[in-house]
Amino acid sequence: MADRISILFIGGGVAAHLYSLVAAHRYGAKQLAVTMVDPIEDAPDRNLCVWGPPEPLLQDALIVEWSRVQFGYGRSTITKELHTLTYRHYSAKSIRKVVDTRMQVNRILAHHSTVDRQVDVALDSRPSTVFHRDATLSLQQHFHGWRIQTDADTFDPDVMTMMDFRVDQSNGVCFIYVLPYSRTDALVECTVFSSEPWQKDMYESRLSAYISDNLSCSTYEILSTETGSIPMCDAIPDRKRGEHWFSIGSAAGLTKATTGYTVARCIRDAEHLFDTQQRTGVWSIPQRPSRRFDWYDRLLLRIIRDEPERVPGIFWALFNRNPIELILRFLDEETSLFDEIRVFWSLPWSPFLRAIFRR
Ligand SMILES: Cc1cc2nc3c(=O)[nH]c(=O)nc-3n(C[C@H](O)[C@H](O)[C@H](O)COP(=O)(O)OP(=O)(O)OC[C@H]3O[C@@H](n4cnc5c(N)ncnc54)[C@H](O)[C@@H]3O)c2cc1C
Repeated sequence: MADRISILFIGGGVAAHLYSLVAAHRYGAKQLAVTMVDPIEDAPDRNLCVWGPPEPLLQDALIVEWSRVQFGYGRSTITKELHTLTYRHYSAKSIRKVVDTRMQVNRILAHHSTVDRQVDVALDSRPSTVFHRDATLSLQQHFHGWRIQTDADTFDPDVMTMMDFRVDQSNGVCFIYVLPYSRTDALVECTVFSSEPWQKDMYESRLSAYISDNLSCSTYEILSTETGSIPMCDAIPDRKRGEHWFSIGSAAGLTKATTGYTVARCIRDAEHLFDTQQRTGVWSIPQRPSRRFDWYDRLLLRIIRDEPERVPGIFWALFNRNPIELILRFLDEETSLFDEIRVFWSLPWSPFLRAIFRR
């Protein structure tokens, strides 16, 4: 047993399960002793989506995937083929189920504040309190969605809607996100970028207007709802919390400030962490991606804060004028400087120029 790797997860949410799966893949599930400490036994489920090439690690957690994505703005929509990529839908519960079938996890129901047991590494997803850089601005991506069953065929099950701005834009940048499960069943979500979450009726009025005006659907049943909010913030947390003790997940700053996407970044982070340990014997967290991306995010956050009315046009130009593969690599922070110049060349310049000089 001495050569088993012991991992203590403080916080047993999405990140803890993703890091466990990567660890099981790297070391072998039998070589791991995994403990997760979390005060909540059964957190509400979360719909989690990721784009990219097939991800064998999460194959058994897959709920549905789409090969085309749609955008809407003004009077137009565009649909883009993802070619070798797909947009894939998992959930916090489907990922946890895979963990529970692949490995043994010692789950402890408790609040935890310090690492008082002998473990090889402690991975902590409690919110950060110490920052390498404090936030200069802080907004929220907040949303409320309905899973609906319609009477008539309403959705194309091959096409998910990533951003449809054809909704009322007062009170914050607002778009509709649609995940279709069949021709008559979809999650339709109203997503907003603004400083404060809304009252429920504000999301609901956008949702019902969108469903009747844009989906031309008058009869439907609401099967379930999803509500959430993700910080859009430029703070950079200090990830080292002690000897062999690091923050992970959103607490580690792995949520992209301008999109909220976190899952793919957690997987990449975990791969780096465990690969480095296997190769060198040292536990160390990866460097942050180039600071250029932090800066781009900060510019867009300033535009969302100061000129929200410009934001739908910026996203529309981004998606309409660039190949989808380039956009997704850009959002994944995997583009070269040359690619980024190409992307920015396609966007309206003036809001970005103003944002450079604003604080
Ligand atoms: C509704 C919703 C939908 C999302 N959809 C997507 C998506 O489609 N794609 C994507 O990439 N990202 C998405 N995200 C963002 C991100 O993937 C999730 O927020 C994800 O849950 C982050 O994982 P985490 O482990 O860092 O945080 P969490 O999953 O929130 O886990 C943190 C855990 O820490 C526990 N904890 C807190 N205090 C203590 C303590 N003192 N001791 C022990 N445990 C403690 C909490 O109970 C919690 O279980 C979404 C977020 C939300 C809210």
